[in-house]
Amino acid sequence: MKIPTVCPYCGVGCLLSLQVLDGKVKKVTPLNIGPGEGKLCIKGWSAHEFIHHPDRLTKPLIRKNGGFIETGWRKALTLISRSLLEAKEEYGGNSVALLSSSKSTNEENYLLQKFARTVIGTNNIDNCARLCHASTIEGLMKSFGSGAMTNSQEDIEDADVIFVIGSNTSEQHPLIARRIIKAVKKGSSLILADPRSIDLKAYATIHLNLYPGTDVALINAFMNVIIFEGLQDTHFIKSRTEGFHELEKLVAKYTPEYAARITGVDAKLISNAAKIYAKADKASIIFSMGITQHTTGVNNVVSLANLAMLCGNIGRPGTGVNPLRGQNNVQGSCDMGALPDFLPGYRRVSDVEARKTFEERWGVKCPDGRGLTLIEMINECGGKIKAMYIMGENPLMTDPDLNHVKKQLEKLDFLAVSELFPSETTEVADVILPAASFAEKDGTYTATDRRIQRIRKAVEPVGESQPDWMIISQLSKIMGYLMPYTSPANVMEEIAELVPIYGGVSYERLDKGALKWPCIDENHPGTSILHVERFTRGRGRFVTVDYNPPSEVPDEEYPFILTTGRLLFHWHGGTMTRRSKTLIDQVNEAYIEINPSDANLLRIFDGEKVKVKSKRGEITLKASITERVKEGVVFIPFHFAEAAANHLTNSALDPEAKIPEFKVCAVKIEKPSDFESFPKT
Ligand code: SF4
Repeated sequence: MKIPTVCPYCGVGCLLSLQVLDGKVKKVTPLNIGPGEGKLCIKGWSAHEFIHHPDRLTKPLIRKNGGFIETGWRKALTLISRSLLEAKEEYGGNSVALLSSSKSTNEENYLLQKFARTVIGTNNIDNCARLCHASTIEGLMKSFGSGAMTNSQEDIEDADVIFVIGSNTSEQHPLIARRIIKAVKKGSSLILADPRSIDLKAYATIHLNLYPGTDVALINAFMNVIIFEGLQDTHFIKSRTEGFHELEKLVAKYTPEYAARITGVDAKLISNAAKIYAKADKASIIFSMGITQHTTGVNNVVSLANLAMLCGNIGRPGTGVNPLRGQNNVQGSCDMGALPDFLPGYRRVSDVEARKTFEERWGVKCPDGRGLTLIEMINECGGKIKAMYIMGENPLMTDPDLNHVKKQLEKLDFLAVSELFPSETTEVADVILPAASFAEKDGTYTATDRRIQRIRKAVEPVGESQPDWMIISQLSKIMGYLMPYTSPANVMEEIAELVPIYGGVSYERLDKGALKWPCIDENHPGTSILHVERFTRGRGRFVTVDYNPPSEVPDEEYPFILTTGRLLFHWHGGTMTRRSKTLIDQVNEAYIEINPSDANLLRIFDGEKVKVKSKRGEITLKASITERVKEGVVFIPFHFAEAAANHLTNSALDPEAKIPEFKVCAVKIEKPSDFESFPKT
């Protein structure tokens, strides 16, 4: 039996077929349609390997005498219900926080936010998009009125120039990197801005290896050059935008020489790259977490929007501002309103009319105050937050400053976690619920380019595990609010009714092919390119932003800039990929990339263990001496719990998007002779 579905890893959303024999998924093969065009990366090819792994959670567990004992669903859900209600009655609904998941389906995210707002009466719901693309939503909403990728994956190949900034596309979105490489081979130019010499450098016309956290200075210098040379699109600026004169004034001081001093990039290279971008008929900007995970994340994003508008690169094939979403359903979890300030469909919780629409359908009054974001929830554990419900997330691997996160989660009166596998976070839970994997349930994911696709149940859930949509519905019923859904298709019917951009979406239509939102009614074909004739907000807005340095910069004691990221072979906290034999055979150990000059000064040899310390924590891991990083910059992949990079990272937040600054913090490195025994991680 072959079951068509969607890859559970990244936001590209490649389609694959699960090959089932004797009730188990034995193999994955690519489908010839969809974003992957018949190809998968190594993670997609291995997507079945964790499904039947012996570590899977198979029964609900409750904490007893310092350990966990197995229990039945009824008892576990009753305990959760009682604990959440106790917190609500004693301290109010806002004493409960819920963490949704960008790995879960749209339907599950929709139900968890509905549960938060109807049953608990709080907007304290967030999802891990807070850690990757919250600044994209805030930034692009300000500039364009819509926080999503403007164009489609397919039309990247139409671009004359592709500007990739802060995206290690070959490792994080390999099948989009394939399109970029195809375009370059057909004659497109690639401008790459990245602190590391990543694989795409081999295809780049220009590589701008800027210091992490200096993006605004670089982009403002691009615009300085473009305006100085008269290369801006005056017609587009006049007819489609507002705020140009303020922008012109601000970028006047960002000469390439000025930006060179901040970014560490040669002024001539900055100038050349700006001219290549501006002279293209169609230029596409692609970015990811190298742009967003900063205390200036929103400013970085609006700078890119400014650049695109300045050259009229919006609303046409081969153009656009294109954030590549990390996890498989980051786009969808935000679309579904698993956010503290937005109801489903990006309608503000403060919007009375929007609330009324949902209140009439749900039969309950919705809370109106903005809820806490993910990092704010963690900081309030034991304070305003007494109880927490986490669906499919592992903040004890993926949040910054893990020592702090652990201390905070331990202050909660009650923590429930639904998960596939035991994790660092389930270790501190009071109740653990076994959740079904992507192969064991129906639903939809929304890929990075707003592409809504069906996932399909191929096998029965292992043990007693259940899909999260069923878990939430049962919990809600026990707590006195009926969610009478018989299938995820029913949930999508309600979403289509209440969320205008999903208005024409149904399982019947999705079974014939993907739909890209906005898809406003059953006859609407979906939308490949946004802002074609007008921006969602009317006119595009130039938002002027000055360069501000990262929250933490190197000093005498901590002289290196640490930047973190993902590898091709692993995903996020490694919960799934580190249970895949193919992937762990490739890489299964943390390492730190150090430039040869720095290694030489510290007398560190390739492969030896070093201790890396920041103001927040320390880890011990292997040194990898490489020219991929420039002098003064080091890189650590964040997948490995034994040496989790997030023990070091800084939890300083962007003031608007509240995204932490994962991409820059100051560290020191000690060679083996400086320490006698390995520290605790
Ligand atoms: Fe899966 Fe992304 Fe790889 Fe495609 S590119 S197979 S969606 S991990």
